[in-house]
Amino acid sequence: MPQYRKDIILDEWVIIATERAKRPENFREERIKLDSAIYDICPFDAGNESMTPPEILKIDSSGKVSNSPDGPWLVRVVPNKFPALVHNAEPVSYKYGPYTNMDGFGIHEVVIHTPEHITNISSLEASRISIILDVYAKRIRDIKKNARIESVIIMLNQGKEAGASLEHTHSQIFGLPLIPAVLEKEIYGTAKYFKQNRRCAMCEMIEFELSQDRRVVYKNSNFIVIQPYASRNPFETWIVPLWHDPNFENIEETKIADFADCFKRVADFFHTELNEPPFNYYIHTGPLHLEDFNVNYHWNFKFIPKLSIKAGFEIATGIDICITTPEYTADFMKQSKVFN
Ligand SMILES: [Zn+2]
Ligand SMILES: [Zn+2]
Repeated sequence: MPQYRKDIILDEWVIIATERAKRPENFREERIKLDSAIYDICPFDAGNESMTPPEILKIDSSGKVSNSPDGPWLVRVVPNKFPALVHNAEPVSYKYGPYTNMDGFGIHEVVIHTPEHITNISSLEASRISIILDVYAKRIRDIKKNARIESVIIMLNQGKEAGASLEHTHSQIFGLPLIPAVLEKEIYGTAKYFKQNRRCAMCEMIEFELSQDRRVVYKNSNFIVIQPYASRNPFETWIVPLWHDPNFENIEETKIADFADCFKRVADFFHTELNEPPFNYYIHTGPLHLEDFNVNYHWNFKFIPKLSIKAGFEIATGIDICITTPEYTADFMKQSKVFN
């Protein structure tokens, strides 16, 4: 069973999950073998549904939720076959000497983006990306019913260097009985900003960026695409809703097409102008049951292409050194046909 262990020096949780356990010597082997890893049968392709656990949610070919186990589909959500977290555990913490640990309770699902064997999410039309984003909101609203889940993280790894183990385009949903450190820091940071300025930091940022037009790459009626002022990575790209809401899952259906419009353009930009770099994306939505706590939080979506390597200084200090200016990358992006 997976286990949370508290790093008592940093006061942060880590997950020790051995479901895909390797013997120590296999790490060496894997470095040699990874390049030649070819999957003859892809478990995410249409026709291979029995290779994954039964679905939690299925969208049929008309874009509606399907209640039938058979028939064509556009998106399937299934439990992860090798979960980093499990349902059948209690979020109870135990002491072990100076340490604290907790059984690895949580939710770990896989969102299969398409029945065709497609490896790049930018190959999907904006209307198909809308369906995926809507599935994310639907899953969070459902997971929220579980009072023991405190936060949901939805993320994608595309490309081996970004952590993908199967190339068929898919993303993952994690429901956690805790608030992870990065989200907690964002909440703490925006709460501190609010205390000092009586305004949401993200709302203030949007207003300023629109008045400057230096780092804004694209805008539609409901979203803005920006290169963040204090960028940590070359071409790190944020999609931020223009309205204030701590939680993504509250999104009205009518606004999802605008989100997908931004998403599709950013994915196309990476694909066509940057030659398909590996990347990660994630949604940060406020804690699920701490309404008072997250009042100043503003949900957001981040694309992080893997174009540079975090080196010793970044690892030792937590201070990222970004080798391009966000103003320069914003100019480059704005010139691309995908944003025009
Ligand atoms: Zn496939
Ligand atoms: Zn705001």
